[in-house]
Amino acid sequence: MRLVLLGPPGSGKGTQAKLLAARLGMAHISTGDILREAVRTGTALGRQVRPFMERGTYVPDELVSALVRERLSRDDAPKHFLLDGYPRTRAQAEALDRLLAEIGLALDAVVYLDVPDEIIVHRITGRRVCPACGAVYHVENQAPRQAGICDVCGAELIQREDDREETVRERLRVFRQTVPEVVAYYAHQGNLLTVDGSADVDTVHQALCDKLQEVTPGC
Ligand code: AMP
Repeated sequence: MRLVLLGPPGSGKGTQAKLLAARLGMAHISTGDILREAVRTGTALGRQVRPFMERGTYVPDELVSALVRERLSRDDAPKHFLLDGYPRTRAQAEALDRLLAEIGLALDAVVYLDVPDEIIVHRITGRRVCPACGAVYHVENQAPRQAGICDVCGAELIQREDDREETVRERLRVFRQTVPEVVAYYAHQGNLLTVDGSADVDTVHQALCDKLQEVTPGC
């Protein structure tokens, strides 16, 4: 199974990607997570992408596509994967198609998680993440047992730099500007599924699985 999960920042993309990848036994490849890790550890890539990420704008297509290519074409690359947050532009979608053709694989589906802006701003500004294990919480909707502390590993939770309100609004603006070309690209290929992502985590997960049943009986 090979999937792309598209959605605005705050659509629950990361949470749903983790659940789906675990349920269907796919590798979860999140370009946002890979880029944040590169920034955190100060690699050459991290230094290059940091200014873009801090502003909430996109990292150049060539850099992100090179990174995905590196992940998917090495010898031990997974054959079943879920791409989370990539492709985000038409140029990236075309680069992905070229890569998939080279390695002889195809996508089963592209899922678009649709969520209105007002819900997103509320969700993102309340989001807290664990810097140690990657668990994600929300101060109201999915609060940890003890405020500010990760249930899984006990580390202190943080707010991502790019989850501040001004940055969120900029990220949404960029997303709304570029997503139609990606949605149109996959709609044209005939493998686009749209799921309403505004409900709670479990309801959206079930809706996603129901939609995916249309392309795979394994969900
Ligand atoms: P995300 O966690 O998917 O919301 O990504 C966080 C940030 O990483 C984005 O705001 C971009 O700056 C950068 N990023 C992640 N994936 C991509 C991509 N496919 N193309 C360009 N920039 C990306």
